[in-house]
Amino acid sequence: MAKPLIVCRDLSIIYNKGKSNEFKALSNVNTDIYEGEYIILFGASGSGKSTLMYAIQGSLPPGSGTLLIRGDDIYSYPPDERVYFQRYVMGIIFQSFNLIPSLSVLDNVALPMIFCNADKTTRERRAQSLLDRFGVGHVSHKIPAMLSGGQQQRVSVSRSMVNDPKILLADEPTGNLDSVSTQQVMDKIDEINTFDRRTIIMVSHNAAHLSYAHRVYYLKDGLIVREVVNPQRKQIKPVREGETIVTELEQLARIYPYDSVEMLRVKSMVNYLTQEFTYRQLIRLEHAIGLFISGKLDKDHFIKSLILPYEKGGVEIDEKTAREMAHRAERMIEQADDIRRFRARKENQNIFFSQHHLAERLRDHLLHSYRIKLTKEQDEHLIEMIADRVTGVIEEDQFNERLMQSVRSGGLGLTEAEADDMTRYFEKVIAQGVDVSYKS
Ligand code: ADP
Ligand code: MG
Repeated sequence: MAKPLIVCRDLSIIYNKGKSNEFKALSNVNTDIYEGEYIILFGASGSGKSTLMYAIQGSLPPGSGTLLIRGDDIYSYPPDERVYFQRYVMGIIFQSFNLIPSLSVLDNVALPMIFCNADKTTRERRAQSLLDRFGVGHVSHKIPAMLSGGQQQRVSVSRSMVNDPKILLADEPTGNLDSVSTQQVMDKIDEINTFDRRTIIMVSHNAAHLSYAHRVYYLKDGLIVREVVNPQRKQIKPVREGETIVTELEQLARIYPYDSVEMLRVKSMVNYLTQEFTYRQLIRLEHAIGLFISGKLDKDHFIKSLILPYEKGGVEIDEKTAREMAHRAERMIEQADDIRRFRARKENQNIFFSQHHLAERLRDHLLHSYRIKLTKEQDEHLIEMIADRVTGVIEEDQFNERLMQSVRSGGLGLTEAEADDMTRYFEKVIAQGVDVSYKS
């Protein structure tokens, strides 16, 4: 099995050690990052994301613990070797671009190559081809100040790639950009991961970015509080079964390890729609629901097959129940499509607008199912919770807790029974919309 490219073991970083303003910015951090992975370090401002990134980059030595890159302790390298490492193994992009204002765009990109043996023409040709690739080739002779923020950031993406690094680090690279430029920069970084197969470590506090990553490390107050696997991407790091229970589907996958994702969805739906049927009926129902979920049976035919007598191949349910069932299943499938869209990479032109919009729609569905009237404040909290749950920022338990928490502390103030009900329902919807992460 492949070894991880970057290993942190009980890594702690202390600023101003021994002084009165000593500050522990990271405590006992453990990470394993594999070659080719796209990792996001996610968390509120001040949680230690940049600190971890600069430790990996070779400019912040561990206070305690170990940090190994390709099996080496980079902090034990002699100075020239460390510089070589930072120049040829790591590429870096900053929030504030960090371009040299007095140099042309072309010279900015060519500059990091000055220490290698290539002659000026070769350097400029390589710089120009990168600028072309990232869509800023036509402004290569301008100075950075004449470019838009989005263009400047694409110049720094070009610069970060000029020495063909193995690992690309990006510290909130879209923090200063509008949403269109953000999308362009995110797409380019995604391309560097999927096409060039470079390892990406990105610092972000924007939940809309999470869908790009293979995995997300959530930081809080200098600790890694959670690691979440993105079920939409085929994993590189070996994921142990049961390690990432984030959805009901994954729980079902543990009970029925040989079932397909489609079958697990069927089971989840059957379990939702019925408790009171016989085993024979359940088998028939699974079959009918399987066809309905996959779109092979439309709603009318689905209802017919539910009503049909058992001898004739039906489930033999009374018409009223059958209609009600079809209606509920149909609504859940619609909502699951929203979950899928929410998590989909690239599908939406403007991920920020549409994710918020989808979260609002999911809220509407939920409220429609539960007929609860919310104040404006509760409403905002619910949208935030929905987005957090769908992106994996919070787990099922926390979603449930937040529903019960007081409105003042960011919750919804529901009773336990209401919260349990709503959580159960929403987990079902997620199960329909999200795949099982270790079955890729
Ligand atoms: P993030 O990138 O998540 O916003 P940082 O890694 O920059 O957080 O900072 C983590 C904590 O360490 C913050 O509380 C910050 O104030 C503190 N910190 C960062 N840099 C220094 C420094 N050079 N000296 C002292 N404290 C620092
Ligand atoms: Mg930071």
